Amino acid sequence: MRRKLAAGNWKMNGTKASLTELSAMATAADGAAEVLICPPATLIALAADTTPDIAIGGQDCHTAASGAHTGDLSAAQLADAGASYVILGHSERRADHGESDAQVRDKTRAAWEAGLTAVVCVGETLEQREHANTLDIIGGQLAGSIPDGATAHRLVVAYEPVWAIGTGKVPTLDQIAEVHGFIRARLERRFGAGVGRSTRILYGGSVKPSNAVEIFAVPNVDGALVGGASLKATDFGPIIEALN
Ligand code: PEP
Repeated sequence: MRRKLAAGNWKMNGTKASLTELSAMATAADGAAEVLICPPATLIALAADTTPDIAIGGQDCHTAASGAHTGDLSAAQLADAGASYVILGHSERRADHGESDAQVRDKTRAAWEAGLTAVVCVGETLEQREHANTLDIIGGQLAGSIPDGATAHRLVVAYEPVWAIGTGKVPTLDQIAEVHGFIRARLERRFGAGVGRSTRILYGGSVKPSNAVEIFAVPNVDGALVGGASLKATDFGPIIEALN
């Protein structure tokens, strides 16, 4: 059985005052679904102490365990601060920092070595979708970004169409079903039926309380990676409830 996962990506938002939102989410987080919040790194240690019902994750990590990398954070440091997850290969990292599939793969390996579960993001741009390249793009990203040795415990895949992130646009339910089914088949083919069937696949891109229920009913959608609607308990609470 795949435990549903409601994951929030706070991106570069939030200060210590935002921790009250985390406390307010704790009631919804007390149910069947697992709840994860990935705050900015400045808040990880404080967030990890706020409520045991919400797992905490980083938004990126370096490929190395330590060293001369000014401004970067290693997976071991995230784990030391209280993180149990890390988002890797988010499209904003791929676009803003030029992250390649190979870098995401190396970061994923580093995350695993530190005992973190990696949430590896894949997704096509609008141009790629319009040229009917979506499954090729997703297949290439999966092959390039996920190292050998994946297990359902240390890997979560997030399908996030770039054109749906922060735009209010959402693919049709059929489009979501097609990509999630494709990802499931690729995971089964590469890692075997056991791992492939038990690895969680999240949908991300403009998920909000008003569309969560229908998206979560799509086959092979095991939860969501949520940006804007994860910042406030009044939005994220109902999304968590839709998975409970
Ligand atoms: C994201 O950035 O991962 C995301 C899905 O953002 P939003 O929910 O705001 O579209």
